Amino acid sequence: MKMEKQPQEVVLIGAGIMSATLSILLKKLNPSIKISVFEKLDKIGFESSEAFNNAGTGHSAFCELNYTPQGKDGNVDITKAINIAKQFETSKEFWTYLVENNYISSPENFLRKTPHMSFVWGEDDVNFLRKRHAAMSKHPLFKDMLYSEDFEQIKKWAPLIVTGRQAGEKVAATYMDIGTDINFGELTREIFKSLQQKGEITLETSHEVKDLTRLSNGKWAVKVKDLKSGNNKAINADFVFIGAGGGAILSLQKSGIPEGKKFGGFPVGGQWLICQNEEVINSHFAKVYGKAKIGAPPMSVPHLDTRVINGKKSLLFGPFAVFSTKFLKEGSNLDLFKSVNLGNVGFLMSCGLNNMDLTKYLIEQVMLSKAQKVESLKEYLPEARLEDWFEQTAGQRVQVIEEQTGKGVLKFGTEIVSSADGSIAALLGASPGASTSVSAMINVLTKCFPELMNNEWKKEIKNMIPIFGEDFNNAELIANSRAKTNSVLKIK
Ligand SMILES: Cc1cc2nc3c(=O)[nH]c(=O)nc-3n(C[C@H](O)[C@H](O)[C@H](O)COP(=O)(O)OP(=O)(O)OC[C@H]3O[C@@H](n4cnc5c(N)ncnc54)[C@H](O)[C@@H]3O)c2cc1C
Repeated sequence: MKMEKQPQEVVLIGAGIMSATLSILLKKLNPSIKISVFEKLDKIGFESSEAFNNAGTGHSAFCELNYTPQGKDGNVDITKAINIAKQFETSKEFWTYLVENNYISSPENFLRKTPHMSFVWGEDDVNFLRKRHAAMSKHPLFKDMLYSEDFEQIKKWAPLIVTGRQAGEKVAATYMDIGTDINFGELTREIFKSLQQKGEITLETSHEVKDLTRLSNGKWAVKVKDLKSGNNKAINADFVFIGAGGGAILSLQKSGIPEGKKFGGFPVGGQWLICQNEEVINSHFAKVYGKAKIGAPPMSVPHLDTRVINGKKSLLFGPFAVFSTKFLKEGSNLDLFKSVNLGNVGFLMSCGLNNMDLTKYLIEQVMLSKAQKVESLKEYLPEARLEDWFEQTAGQRVQVIEEQTGKGVLKFGTEIVSSADGSIAALLGASPGASTSVSAMINVLTKCFPELMNNEWKKEIKNMIPIFGEDFNNAELIANSRAKTNSVLKIK
């Protein structure tokens, strides 16, 4: 049975973008709530949410080709793209609310307008992109998307991707001017700093949640270790959110809830090539996404990204997959082994055997030398030079595996796992990730507090996010919402 009353004492595990978003939502929905956040690192937002640990793409489906699969009949299905674009508009309205209500001082600290492009070559992929553009540009969310097969036009958008190509090579690109590059680490820190300054939450860094025990009164006893002093303490909570990023599976297993037993995870490390040649960096200004290789998981779609981090412009390409048994970049090499038990070993192994394409892809990726990575980069930047690029470790992702009728099934999206009574929830998976954190956290609340979300909380959510629950086919509504978010977040 779900809890009907407002939660009063809440513990959030981890200080990443998900917990930051949920903290502020809960505080606005129930101002008397007591929120305690525990973060095991000595700083905030430094795991997957940190700028160079992710690609910083405001995922709005403008450029990500894996959100628009082509069916056997040749038609391009844009359903997923619409769904992700809706969630990103929701995030933008929420961030606009945060700027207007003094939770974020200056939007350019975390968000920059950066055009989003898709780029393909070869007859088949050009045909696909043309069809994708035709389907998408009919929808109000994508109506400003431009398309071209012309070298000269593409050169105006992103000169380096066509320079050095054979005349007559078949290429195509789409261009969306209102794309964004986002520093999710900075956004996390801004939100938590404001909440702390306003006295609305308590947040303790260097505090690791070690265990979760269900008490007879229905509350959770959260065992926390102060990593500096070595002392332990227990906090009682009537709602716990596991926002531990890649570490969420381990905390979920500690809770012992039956819903968690169906899940396991496989870590996939990430790596970027980062450009150190200022001339190259300054000649490119866009996020350019291509098509994934066969077997590649959706999050490994290659892209060439302009980033502006702490005011400094940079250019990165990737991600490449690397092997690691850690669930967090700052995690332990034992993470994967700790997560395997008698209950999940069978479906985890079956998943590996049933996904040989992915296994083959990962092995090939792990074997790549830097020179081979630069060869892949040359597909996007024909004149790339080995000496202009260095390798840098990105964040760690944990690929979610769910048990379904005895078999392990790979899940590529975000999974919210919660107990039947709604007293605990965990967020697993990292795709589309931080961009859709607002919708993900609204989904957590809807799953755990359906009555409240249907009644008293609904009005407050609408107050913060006017577009919430509206019809996104309504061109006027999208135009009005974007006029506001573009202006407040300085996207135009
Ligand atoms: C290579 C890569 C590229 C990506 N690109 C994008 C992108 O372009 N756009 C996008 O929107 N998303 C992207 N993502 C996904 C995005 O980074 C994540 O979805 C998002 O940052 C997850 O936020 P989080 O708060 O859940 O986790 P995190 O930011 O990882 O925060 C979890 C926190 O929990 C802490 N923690 C863990 N266990 C415990 C414990 N037991 N006790 C206390 N604290 C604990 C950790 O130290 C960490 O600080 C990418 C991810 C990767 C890895």
